[in-house]
Parts: sequence; structure tokens; C-alpha cells
Amino acid sequence: MSNLVFENRPVSAPRRLNEQVTARLTDLHGCLEVMRITEIFHSIQGESSYAGRPCVFVRLTWCNLRCTWCDSEYTFTGGTEMSLDAVLEQVRKYNCPLVEITGGEPLVQKNECRELVRQLCEEGYEVLIETSGSLDINVLDPRAVRILDIKCPGSGEERRNRWENLDCLSQRDEIKFVILDRRDFDYAVEVIERYGLDRRDPAVLFSPVWGKIDLAQLAQWILETGLRARMQLQLHKYIWGPDTKGV
Ligand code: SF4
Repeated sequence: MSNLVFENRPVSAPRRLNEQVTARLTDLHGCLEVMRITEIFHSIQGESSYAGRPCVFVRLTWCNLRCTWCDSEYTFTGGTEMSLDAVLEQVRKYNCPLVEITGGEPLVQKNECRELVRQLCEEGYEVLIETSGSLDINVLDPRAVRILDIKCPGSGEERRNRWENLDCLSQRDEIKFVILDRRDFDYAVEVIERYGLDRRDPAVLFSPVWGKIDLAQLAQWILETGLRARMQLQLHKYIWGPDTKGV
């Protein structure tokens, strides 16, 4: 992880210079980006308002958070370096109009992720980006749909929420709360009310932590509050089991 630079950490002068040179070279020559990829696969979208649709997933390696209930820890290390062109070529092979960029946290590789999203949008794909909400989403092409997590206390990462992100969401973007327990649910309701998020229906999603909360209980809480939120289950885990990767 030592070669990662997170948004809220100082960037050394040589690194900054290196980034500037790389950005300039990219401008001049097009595709110089190399990104670290954990997996690319074709499956059924399991979450969001796009659930149930065939989708190509591009899962980028690395994450700047460590949620207590994370089900993608295998993205924290490893992965394979791929050029942007190689990633695009792989995506095209599936002949599927819907693509999701996910992780880990895809915005840890900010420049590469931005360029990948831009290129996919240019090629006419419907592009979804799953992001933890801890980094600046403004860098992303507005043609893409941003699915933004708001971290609840049960994740152990709620202090990392970047609230400024809520100001730049469009009607097409979606906001997700992963709920571990009643405390998380109450936190989510408070955030929704404070920021008027339920007026963006169907953009607010409630997602139970797998195996940790009674689904009927969560449904009941949503009904009792009268929130215009969408309860979502991780469809892929019901189809293939909770521990199967690449689906
Ligand atoms: S942001 Fe996502 S990938 Fe990162 S630790 Fe949390 S759940 Fe895992």
C-alpha cells in the first residue's frame, strides 16, 4: 500500500511533479494510463436501481477505507496492471451496454478511473460507478451514474464521509446506506432528513449487511418511517452464494 496516495494525505513534491508530467504526456499521446485491476467480469447487477440487468463489472484494486463488514477485502492488495486500452478491449468483448466501475475504491486511482469512465461514456455505454463517498466525485464524467455510499457508524468509517459530495449529485445519481443495525438505520434517517435526500426518489437505497440484520425488520423500519427509499438486497449473493467472487 506504500505506493498509494490518498486524497487527504500530503503529496510529495517529486510525486506531484511526476503526476504533472504523466498528465501532460497523457494529453499528448492519449492512452498512457495503466491501472491496477482486480477483476473484470460479466454478471447480473445485484444492487442499485439497475439490479437484475446484465452488466460488465470492472473492479479496481485498492481501497482507502476499512469497513468492518467489507465483503471485498481481496481488492486491498494484488491485482493486475492493465492499460486503459486493454481494459476497454476486455469490456467490449462482452457486448453489454451496461458497465459498472467498482472496487475497492475506484477513485483511489483517480486519473485512471476518470479516463476509463470518460472513454466508456464516449463509446455510448451506460456507466455506473460505485464509490465509498470519501473522495471527490466531481472528477467523474457527469454522463455516468454515481452510486455513492454514505458510511454509517457500523462501518467504522463514518468520519470519512465527504459531505461536499452530496451537493454535486444529479437526479440520476444514487445514494446507498449499508445498514448493520438500528443505530445505522437511525443515522441514515437523520442524514436523509438533513440533506433532503428522500426527495430524489428512487435514488436512496438501503442495503442490509449480509447475514447481520433481519430483512423483515429492516423492511418494517423503512415502512414505519414512510421514507421514499428503496430497500435492496445483494441479488448476486442470493444467486451464487455470498463468498463467490467474479459474479
Ligand atoms: S469502501 Fe468498500 S471496498 Fe472499501 S473497505 Fe469499505 S466496503 Fe470494503
